[in-house]
Amino acid sequence: MTDWREELARFVAEAPGNVIGPERALAPEWAGLRLYEEPLVGTADAGDPLFAALQAPEAVGPWFRVPGDWLPGARTVLSFFLPFSRRVRESNIPGRDPSGGWLHGRVEGQAFLMEACRYLKARLEAEGYEAVIPCDCPEFWSVGRAGSNPRAWDPSASFTSVWSERHVAYVCGLGTFGLSRGLITEKGQCGRFGSLVTTAPLPATPRPCTGLYDYCTRCGACAARCPAGAISLAEGKAHPPCAAYLAETGRRFPPRYGCGKCQVGVPCMSRIPLGREK
Ligand code: SF4
Ligand code: SF4
Repeated sequence: MTDWREELARFVAEAPGNVIGPERALAPEWAGLRLYEEPLVGTADAGDPLFAALQAPEAVGPWFRVPGDWLPGARTVLSFFLPFSRRVRESNIPGRDPSGGWLHGRVEGQAFLMEACRYLKARLEAEGYEAVIPCDCPEFWSVGRAGSNPRAWDPSASFTSVWSERHVAYVCGLGTFGLSRGLITEKGQCGRFGSLVTTAPLPATPRPCTGLYDYCTRCGACAARCPAGAISLAEGKAHPPCAAYLAETGRRFPPRYGCGKCQVGVPCMSRIPLGREK
């Protein structure tokens, strides 16, 4: 049976898209930058009741599409985490502005994540299974700006989507949420998530935690680092100031954008904080 973690790890190690070549580097110092380290992979039964539970208003919302909505006959959801490389992470610790490495990770890193999704889809199909990438389907939508939801049936549905990678990763046993709303994995929260729905019957990854926030110590370091004041111990993360700050970076660093100051220089940057390991 194919080991999908090994399969993805090989792809991440060898694919040229995981390295910023001189032709797309923001500055000569970023040429040769490796975006991601070795990935984590988690799987869940497509019929896991936690997927339906994500339709609750306090989770994602009733618009969340369960695995069978994306692929009739779905057996498994495969979620993966690509941790940013040490250089991407550490370059973004100083200062208020995103580093060049972080801007590459946010934009070229997302493009590479889609390459990884398509690679896994092709490999699953080569083994005779069906597979879909929800965020690459025409039915996918997300709303990242207050009041910008084109679906007039529920104008309150801002900062949400029909398929939430972090929530799906939680169901697939990859980690638990932090105060800053990222998902803290055994390799920290500094990186990006992708997922596929497939007819392949893969064994589910045990979920090591029962609590949504088990790995977060509520140390408040992410709140102290946020240049937009978007995070507080009392309220967690407020999306509008974060989105406004990200939009500002988009105007200052076109065609890229990004911030991620809450994910770096904090105890959950690249590991589960001490004392919270299971
Ligand atoms: S920095 Fe501290 S409070 Fe913020 S998510 Fe990480 S562990 Fe939780
Ligand atoms: S991405 Fe930046 S603005 Fe948004 S919550 Fe994190 S630190 Fe704050």
